[in-house]
Amino acid sequence: MEQPQGLYLTVEGRHNGITIKSPQELKTMREAGRVTAAGRDAVVKAIQPGMKTRELDAIFAREIRRLGGKASFKGYRGFPATICVSINNEIVHGIPGDRVVKDGDVVSIDVGAIVGGFHGDSAVTLAVGKSSPEADRLIEATRLSLELGIKQAVAGNRVGDISYAVQTFAEAQGYGVVREYVGHGIGRALHEDPAVPNVGEKGKGPLLRVGMVIAIEPMLNLGTWETRVLGDDWTVVTADGSISAHFEHTVAITEHGPWVLTAIEGE
Ligand code: MG
Ligand code: MG
Repeated sequence: MEQPQGLYLTVEGRHNGITIKSPQELKTMREAGRVTAAGRDAVVKAIQPGMKTRELDAIFAREIRRLGGKASFKGYRGFPATICVSINNEIVHGIPGDRVVKDGDVVSIDVGAIVGGFHGDSAVTLAVGKSSPEADRLIEATRLSLELGIKQAVAGNRVGDISYAVQTFAEAQGYGVVREYVGHGIGRALHEDPAVPNVGEKGKGPLLRVGMVIAIEPMLNLGTWETRVLGDDWTVVTADGSISAHFEHTVAITEHGPWVLTAIEGE
């Protein structure tokens, strides 16, 4: 039978290269999301000035193991740790180690866990100890930009609707929106199609359909959007040295609207 133009479904359950999860698979992804969220929140509760970033890594690893999850990031393309901890001018992919978290640091925690073969992926930024109004505003704007992006994650919309919502809100506050690093489809692989950029045009990009799962992850800089990578080949920092914030949720497109799989219970 002839397929409608520009659309194909295969036995693997894909739409234009984007995996479509069955209701049962979405339930498993919710479990992965729940474990990811529990690990994330254990780190957020524990963090305080004086802690080494490797202690945060250990807390997440222990919590997800207790809940039956496996770490998503460890060994992914050679990443040497369980979580990413990115501080102040670091945007993403900071490697935990002996660095000590100081009072007033802006700390981004990016975590992932696997349950039943599916990944959850989530990030949060917080100011540790005494923060500045400037940092608080950036963090809140980044969190809100994620919320606005999630609202656009509905069947019939396009990826560009999410990108547009994030970009217009963030730029109206005067923040730089990171372009070289983007959100992504997620499922049995940590990174699947489609790319979910944080800048873009309304009505452009891949169509969102029920059963797709995407990680939406705005990264906002106090200064410009440009980035560079440190000598460890992982840590991404702002080109101008300004502070940065990052929030991420794994979100399923359902017939009832967006389902935030990495939310904690009752969120
Ligand atoms: Mg992440
Ligand atoms: Mg991600």
